[in-house]
Amino acid sequence: MPELPEIEAIRKYLSLTLSNQVIIDIKTLKHTVIRNLSASDFEDLLYLATLKQIERIGKILRFILHKRELTLNMYIDHGLTGRLAWSASKKLPKKTVFSMVFKEGKTLIYHDSRLHGAIWLFVSKNNEPCGYPEKIDSFGPDILQISKEAFIKRLKRFNGEIKGILTNQKFVTGIGNAYADEIMFEAKIHPFDKRTQLTEEEKSKIYFACKKILTNSLEKINHMLSETQKLNNQKYWRQHIFRIHLRGKQPCPICSNPISTIKAKRFTNFCRKCQNPRNRSFF
Ligand SMILES: [Zn+2]
Repeated sequence: MPELPEIEAIRKYLSLTLSNQVIIDIKTLKHTVIRNLSASDFEDLLYLATLKQIERIGKILRFILHKRELTLNMYIDHGLTGRLAWSASKKLPKKTVFSMVFKEGKTLIYHDSRLHGAIWLFVSKNNEPCGYPEKIDSFGPDILQISKEAFIKRLKRFNGEIKGILTNQKFVTGIGNAYADEIMFEAKIHPFDKRTQLTEEEKSKIYFACKKILTNSLEKINHMLSETQKLNNQKYWRQHIFRIHLRGKQPCPICSNPISTIKAKRFTNFCRKCQNPRNRSFF
């Protein structure tokens, strides 16, 4: 699942590439991913619309477009396998949801092999407020915007294991399973520690690890994306960034102990030696 660094890098890159461009052709192929409109309404509304701006709300992208007196807001939640990509040929990937041709020649597609993602398109007239996906109302603040004091204060409202809290979008938005492993490794804290076990110093460490891992990863992806112009290169980016996630059995980059893997609902990787084991006999 793309997380804050990937989504933010894509937002920035697409904003530079597509701002003020007009959609001159649009096709929807797997319209079940489009949650609030029929395929034909989706196409009719976006046809000849001009892309003005792209924003990010947690891990969701918001495309703001104008068409005469209409404002259009398209939201993309990539889910697990959704990807935006450029398409140079007429042959589209199997599970392509939409394909948009822009006036200056580029074709943007969105494909989603498991069709777990979601797209919404809302419309308003004459600058009236536009609708938005309901789930956004439950989102906490963006992890890159929140202060250390607010982060620590907010943490008190959430119970359970720290990794579960970090990936809960109601706590903060932007972090998913993969970057949470990297953050916990950076902070040298066990991902299954309960929030109530953490000292004030450890909470600060987690906050600074979030900022460091996410901003450094974002910078690296910005660089790789501008070099290759390849939007759907998540696997490659992550291979160059991750030190612990999906590296089970490989030596820890700090102590060389083999990296552990726990598979519950999702994979968690961590180093038993570096990440403070407290009194845990079962891992
Ligand atoms: Zn280690």
